Amino acid sequence: MDRALNQPPPLVGYNLFEADLPLRESLEREGAWWAHHMVHELGHLGGTEEAIAWGFQANSNPPQLHTHDRFGNRIDEVEFHPAWHRLMQVAIGHGLHALPWREPRPGAHAARAAAFYVWSQVEGGHGCPVSMTYAAIPALRKAPELAARWEPLITALDYDPGLRPAASKRGALVGMAMTEKQGGSDVRANTTRAVPTGADGEHVLTGHKWFCSAPMCDAFLVLAQAPGGLSCFLLPRVLDDGARNGFHIQRLKDKLGNRSNASAEIELDGAWAVMVGEEGRGVRTIIDMVNHTRLDCVIGSAALMRQAVAQATHHAAYRSAFGRLLSEQPLMVNVLADLAVESEATTLLMMRLAGAFDRASDPEQAAFKRLALAVAKYWTCKRAIAVVSEALECHGGNGYVEESIMPRLYREAPLNSIWEGSGNVNALDVLRAMAREPEAVTAFVDEVEEARGSDPRLDDAVDELKRQLSDQTDAEARARRIVELMAVALQASLLVRHGDPGVAEAFCASRLDSHGGRSFGTLPPSSELAGIVRRHQPQI
Ligand SMILES: Cc1cc2nc3c(=O)[nH]c(=O)nc-3n(C[C@H](O)[C@H](O)[C@H](O)COP(=O)(O)OP(=O)(O)OC[C@H]3O[C@@H](n4cnc5c(N)ncnc54)[C@H](O)[C@@H]3O)c2cc1C
Repeated sequence: MDRALNQPPPLVGYNLFEADLPLRESLEREGAWWAHHMVHELGHLGGTEEAIAWGFQANSNPPQLHTHDRFGNRIDEVEFHPAWHRLMQVAIGHGLHALPWREPRPGAHAARAAAFYVWSQVEGGHGCPVSMTYAAIPALRKAPELAARWEPLITALDYDPGLRPAASKRGALVGMAMTEKQGGSDVRANTTRAVPTGADGEHVLTGHKWFCSAPMCDAFLVLAQAPGGLSCFLLPRVLDDGARNGFHIQRLKDKLGNRSNASAEIELDGAWAVMVGEEGRGVRTIIDMVNHTRLDCVIGSAALMRQAVAQATHHAAYRSAFGRLLSEQPLMVNVLADLAVESEATTLLMMRLAGAFDRASDPEQAAFKRLALAVAKYWTCKRAIAVVSEALECHGGNGYVEESIMPRLYREAPLNSIWEGSGNVNALDVLRAMAREPEAVTAFVDEVEEARGSDPRLDDAVDELKRQLSDQTDAEARARRIVELMAVALQASLLVRHGDPGVAEAFCASRLDSHGGRSFGTLPPSSELAGIVRRHQPQI
């Protein structure tokens, strides 16, 4: 039998956590090293052939909608491949949906971020219900009685799928339904109506939602127009008496990527729901959920970049062309190092942000988080798309073939930038925060300034940033440029203070100074580049 020559071995049998130096260093720095056994365990499992296969199976066998049973009764159920359930079981079993609420100790958000980042690299789609369930708790806590009833179920480590009354389940998942046909970013355009039943907080909802992901969740936080304005509701899929709520799945979206996950169009037909938070303050209530899912978009983007860089550095270390390994060819080293620099900058930013969630009871950290979250959501989601695309090309033709993970990463990448506030919406949110909360600007600049004096290019960039921030002319039209500058300055500051010196140097030279080009692989040549690649290459 012919043996294929010059093809790399599959990237299996490595520990995704142990192989990731920037992550390990960040976990310790953010005071979350106590969780390293758990993240190590996920890292080990994530590198096994079995778990990697679950990711492929869940995506090549997408969920199926069953609107009716064979007798014609409406059931509105979605059937998932067993691999999806295995992925969910691991995620829920390790508390990726609940760790900071179950163990509110210092570093809990950072620990969860590291774990979610590691496990998301195996498969991104199932991260959607995991993330929404995690994010629902802060919003739900605005209705203490409801939270007291649901929280033990939502934070349980049992993955218990199936539509049954919540009281009979060992664990529950929560989704969110805001987007309607006529408006997603502008949720004030919602037309779904909520009519009070007369009982305390109870309403009946009628209308539709154009995107509602993970429709097999046990409950949803939903926005609807109550008599007093747009309000937030908790809507269970199954009522206490076992009857199905008026939540009908019209169809599942045929999506570019994220194919393991179901995203539905739904009709609410007299669905029973109970108000969460104040009437007319629905956006203010659900924004706590959105802020946590935005953090997960940053984590998800960092995970996509890390997995893409791991795959690309691995491929290049085993593939030769023109008589030499790709990993020894100066131009490929430049491409890989440039990708690695971006990945490391993102990992540091993600962990710093998660640390700010941990320390949010400190007003300065809360103010920093307010701005840094929108900045990071905008920038890391944009960069993931470019990083994954270039990493795919490092594989040559193999990267374009479905048997590799690269096409899946490529299709997944744009999604984080769309949901939970698309690029422009996040950029405009940065302007809004700056106008309403000047203390957030101070906290953000103070954080970046912590590296003052370490690198003249960074000092110049911060001075330019301050000039840009104080200029209100055409602010909306300039929003992306301003946010980009903020993101890059923050990443540079983090790298200079905490990152690998070679990575920090390459970042400042290419992202702050004019010595980088417009595509990856344009770093100023340096003997450090090969070391950067080695730092990011997993060993099998
Ligand atoms: C796979 C998938 C799953 C999803 N799951 C869910 C879910 O579970 N629950 C849910 O509620 N939603 C979900 N969504 C919906 C998602 O949150 C929305 O698509 C997103 O918020 C954008 O809203 P829209 O599609 O209505 O686009 P629009 O709001 O029409 O925006 C279109 C474009 O205009 C830009 N834009 C908007 N306002 C401005 C402005 N003022 N200035 C400049 N540019 C602007 C946006 O950035 C965007 O690029 C999902 C979407 C996808 C793709």
